[in-house]
This record gives sequence, C-alpha cells and structure tokens, in this order.
Amino acid sequence: MPRYTAPVRDTRFILEKVIGLDGYANLPAFAAASPEIVNAVLEEGGKFVAEQLFPLNQSGDQQGCKRNDDASVTTPDGFKEAYKAFVEGGWMTLGAPEEFGGQNMPHIVSTAFEEYLISANMAFAMYPGLTKGAVAALLAHGSQEQKEKYLPKMISGEWTGTMNLTEPQCGTDLGLIKTKAEPQADGSYAITGTKIFISAGEHDLADNIIHLVLAKTPGAPDSSKGISLFVVPKFLVNDDGSIGERNGVSCGSIEHKMGIHANSTCVLNYDGAKGWLVGEEMKGLAAMFVMMNAARLGVGLQGLGIAEVAYQNGVQYANDRRQGRALTGPKDPEEKADTLFVHPDVRRMLMEAKAQIEGLRALCMWGALQVDLSHDAGDEEARELADDLVGLLTPVIKGYGTDIGYKVATDCQQVYGGHGYIAEWGMEQYVRDARIAMIYEGTNGVQAMDLVGRKLARKGGRAVQAFFKLVSGEIAEAKQDEKLADFAAKLEKAMGDMQAATMWMAQNGFKNPNDVGAAAYPYMELTGVVAIGLMWLRMATAAQAGLAGGDSDTKFLETKLVTARYYADRILPRTASLRSQIEAGSDTIMALEPEAFEAA
Ligand SMILES: Cc1cc2nc3c(=O)[nH]c(=O)nc-3n(C[C@H](O)[C@H](O)[C@H](O)COP(=O)(O)OP(=O)(O)OC[C@H]3O[C@@H](n4cnc5c(N)ncnc54)[C@H](O)[C@@H]3O)c2cc1C
Repeated sequence: MPRYTAPVRDTRFILEKVIGLDGYANLPAFAAASPEIVNAVLEEGGKFVAEQLFPLNQSGDQQGCKRNDDASVTTPDGFKEAYKAFVEGGWMTLGAPEEFGGQNMPHIVSTAFEEYLISANMAFAMYPGLTKGAVAALLAHGSQEQKEKYLPKMISGEWTGTMNLTEPQCGTDLGLIKTKAEPQADGSYAITGTKIFISAGEHDLADNIIHLVLAKTPGAPDSSKGISLFVVPKFLVNDDGSIGERNGVSCGSIEHKMGIHANSTCVLNYDGAKGWLVGEEMKGLAAMFVMMNAARLGVGLQGLGIAEVAYQNGVQYANDRRQGRALTGPKDPEEKADTLFVHPDVRRMLMEAKAQIEGLRALCMWGALQVDLSHDAGDEEARELADDLVGLLTPVIKGYGTDIGYKVATDCQQVYGGHGYIAEWGMEQYVRDARIAMIYEGTNGVQAMDLVGRKLARKGGRAVQAFFKLVSGEIAEAKQDEKLADFAAKLEKAMGDMQAATMWMAQNGFKNPNDVGAAAYPYMELTGVVAIGLMWLRMATAAQAGLAGGDSDTKFLETKLVTARYYADRILPRTASLRSQIEAGSDTIMALEPEAFEAA
C-alpha cells in the first residue's frame, strides 16, 4: 500500500548546487565521481531500491526472520533473491577502495544512495550497512593479511559483517565485557562468551559472516582499557580463500522485537571460536570506534531515510483523503469535503517534516563530505578541520537526526488519523522501525554525553570554535544580501544561544558535572537546530542564486525559499527555549531521591 520514489532531484540540488561537488574534482577521492556517474548512481540506485527492495518492506516486516532447529536463520521470502541482485548490481562496492574490488566512489555519493536503500527497506539495508562498518574497521586496523583474506568478499557482498559489543550485563558500559580471548599456540585466540542483540548475526543471505568481536585477554584490566578486537569468521577461511570448517560461533536465539523484523537480531554464543586479534591488544575500543563512527553516521541516515518515506506517504494521503472544509471556505465546492491538505494543523505536520528532512539530508551529505575531506583534502589543516567538524557533528547527526526520524514518522502516521494505526497502511511500521535508531549504536542520551563530554572539550574546544567561525562567516556574508538578511539574522540569534550555552557549560561543568549531564540532551538538539540552520542558509543562498541566474526549475527553487522561511520562523527560535533548559542546571532534575519517583 505505501509508495516510495527516491528524491533524486533534491539530492542532486544538494550535491550540485549546495555542496558543489565539481569543486572537489581535483581531489583523489572524487576522481571516480564525474557528474554523469553520480547521476547514474542516483537514478539507477533509486530505481533499483524502489523496484526490488521496497516491495519486500511490508512483507518482510510481517514475516520476520526465523531461527531453525539447527541454529540457522531464514530471512523473509524474497530477501535472498533481492540480496543476490544487490550484490550482482555492485551496490555494495560503491564507496569501497579499488584495491579490494570497490568502485572508489567518495563517501558522500555512497551515502546518498544509502539513504534511498534505507527508505526502501531499512531492515534489508542493515545487512550491507553492518558489513560496511566492519570493512571500515578492518581497513583502518586490520593486518595486510586480514585485509586480503576478508575484504574482497565483504566488499563484493558475498560475505557480510557484524559488530559484537553488547552482552547481557554490558550495553553502554563496555568496561563490563566478560567475553574471553585465550591466546593459542598458532597465534589465534579462543573466543568464549555470549553476545546479545547482534544485528545480522546469522542469516541465509551470504556464504560467510565475518564477526568483529570485543573481548578481553587474560590479565587485561577490568575496564574499557582492557578490551581487544577480534575477527571471528562464521566459517574459517582457507589459505586459498575458500571456505573451510565451521567455527565455534552459533545463534542461540533471535529477538522478537518492535520493528526491523526482517533483520535478524541474534544472541551469538562463542564457544572457543577461533579469532584473530585486529590491531593491538587492549586497543580494541579505538579500533571498534572506527566502525562505530561510520555506523553512527549510518544510523543518523536511518532517521532521514525513514522520515522521507513516511513523509512521501503522508503527503499522498493528505492529497487523497477528504474530510471537513477549509477554515476560509470550501476549496473544492463540487466535492462533499476538501482534502486534508487545507487544514493548517495537517500542513503544520507536513511542513515541519519537509523542512527537517531536507535540512537533515543536507547535513548528512555535508557530514559525509567531511569524512571524505578528512582523508583526502589537499593540506593537513583542511584535513584536520574536516575531522574536527565530523567528530563534533557525528553525535548530532546520530542523535538529533534519529529524533527527527521518529518525530516525522509519528507525525506522518498522525496525518492518516486512525488509518495510521492500522498495519495494512504501512505507517505504523515506519514508527516502529524508526524507534530503534534512537536506541542502538549508543542511545541518543549517550550521543548527547559524547557531544558535551568529549567532543566539545577535545583539543581545547577547537572543533566547536571552528564550527562557530564557519557559521558566523556565512551569516556575515548572507547579511549583505537583503533577500537572505532575515534568515541570517535569525540564524545569528540561534548561534548566539548556542555560544552562550557552550560558555555556560564551560563555566559550570567543573563545579557540578551533573549540570553538564542535564544539559547534554538540549545541547545536542540546540546544535542540531543550528547545524541544520546553516544548511538551510546554504540552500536558500543556492536557490536565490538559481532564480537570479535564470534556472528553469523555478517552482522547486521557490519552494526551497518558502521552506527556508518556515525553518527560520518556526524552528530556529527553539534555541532560546533549549538554552533556558541548559542554563536551568541540574537542581530540579537531581533533587529528588529515587523513592520520590515511586507511586504515591
Ligand atoms: C534491535 C537491536 C539491534 C542491536 N544491534 C547491535 C549490534 O549489532 N551489535 C551490538 O553490539 N549491539 C547491538 N545492539 C545493542 C545496543 O547498541 C544497546 O542496546 C544500546 O547501546 C544500549 O545498551 P543497553 O541496552 O544495555 O542499555 P543500558 O546501557 O542499560 O542503558 C539504559 C538507559 O540508561 C542510559 N545510560 C546508560 N549509561 C549512561 C550514561 N553513562 N550516561 C547517561 N545515560 C546512560 C541509556 O541512555 C539508556 O537510556 C542492538 C540493540 C537492539 C535493540
């Protein structure tokens, strides 16, 4: 019943007019990304996911994954064939290095495609998504032998990957990990322990699954400092690259969960499984962070992907459904009722969705560009700046981006009235699927703590200062243009709130760490509002320039300007309230004893 069309025009507007991809053509990372190739990726990728993966989204949700008696897991009907088509189409290889069989596309281009993949079928998208994270960790920390052994097949999609952090007693606090890694005479380790909630942990889509597992070696400190990272294949890999014996890892059960039913979330039992150290002993968390950072940006993209598909259906329904009359008099007098679109309250939800989605899309693309630049910009200073910016914004894209995803999904469900609650319309699935993105890969509360606890203070606050400099520079420029001056002034006020809140935390954090803990979430949101505000300033600037320059797509560009005005009038002012919450400190949050929360 739901529908989906990849928003290629909007992606192209961002890539071409806002980011100006052609301006980076001289950098090695962008060599493979000619405008023709990028357009082909977007057009063909959008078509592929809409035709092959979207039709399996509802049926996959209804059927779910099944663990069989022999501990194998069967994915829903059609998934195997669709995955085969995905691999054969080369979609897995887009952003991977040529050396291991990839297409060398910049991260920004593969990110654009991945948004479409998620919108079409988030549960499916997680199988290649986890693999991509595992590939990133092996590329950064694996030995040459490990790279050669695992990467070509993971990059082609013949094998998939997982990340194994969580255990029953250990979620956010990875120092509590109990899984053991005993060194063996042949240089391998025997891995023993139980991991839970492992996405794509067991399935029938690929010939092998390469698990990246956090575990502790004998005598390692009983804290996060004692963690090492291991590569543990489901099937051992022979020296000639062929698949060998079954390793000692098996799926104990799969979780029955709220959403993403078509992705298998497994309890994995490691019973002396053969594993190999990745990187240095006891430096596992740093190695896993490569995977986690890639995955966090990917989860932020899940917020965007789900929001987009929910929004497209909300718009369609508001066009089709007739109830009541416009407050200003009948819009369609020949009909018995007007469409839902005439009601300002329905418009409120759709306009909010539109402004947040398009802004978040630009932010995700810009974040992906920073990843590319952090590796490939021409000079060290530019690489460091990009690294600082993406480091600062990763928790914001993950945390605020997935909050937007969930809010938009519920708002678009609301547009359907009671039908939004009925499974066959598909909207309740989006709400269920969107919810997990706020929880895994570090809950959004933990993202907020990462932002204020680590990212703000890192290198003496260099990243946030660079961000302020960037935003204020663009505001100053926009103020010179009378058509952009109003937006620029409102963004300036919002950034002023962020600067004041940052200062407040710097002054109060040492006196009372709970003040910073209490401020973290509103601060993450405040940063998100300003960062997306910067994106809207850029989009408004590009739209204005297009109109002035005679671009024929006037309707699209004028719509951008109206949406930018909505953002300036209705979203940017939220920073004042967020700043007040931050400056209220932690007194009332922490004042009561736990008993006071119990039923009176
Ligand atoms: C469907 C699904 C798929 C998953 N996939 C994977 C996977 O592939 N691999 C994997 O390793 N894990 C996976 N996870 C696990 C997921 O990452 C964890 O559930 C998540 O990180 C939170 O850990 P927890 O559930 O133990 O919650 P807890 O850590 O117990 O947290 C409970 C609450 O306390 C808060 N909290 C905890 N510590 C702090 C703190 N220091 N400061 C502030 N607040 C805090 C949290 O924000 C949360 O609200 C998955 C989970 C689910 C449900």
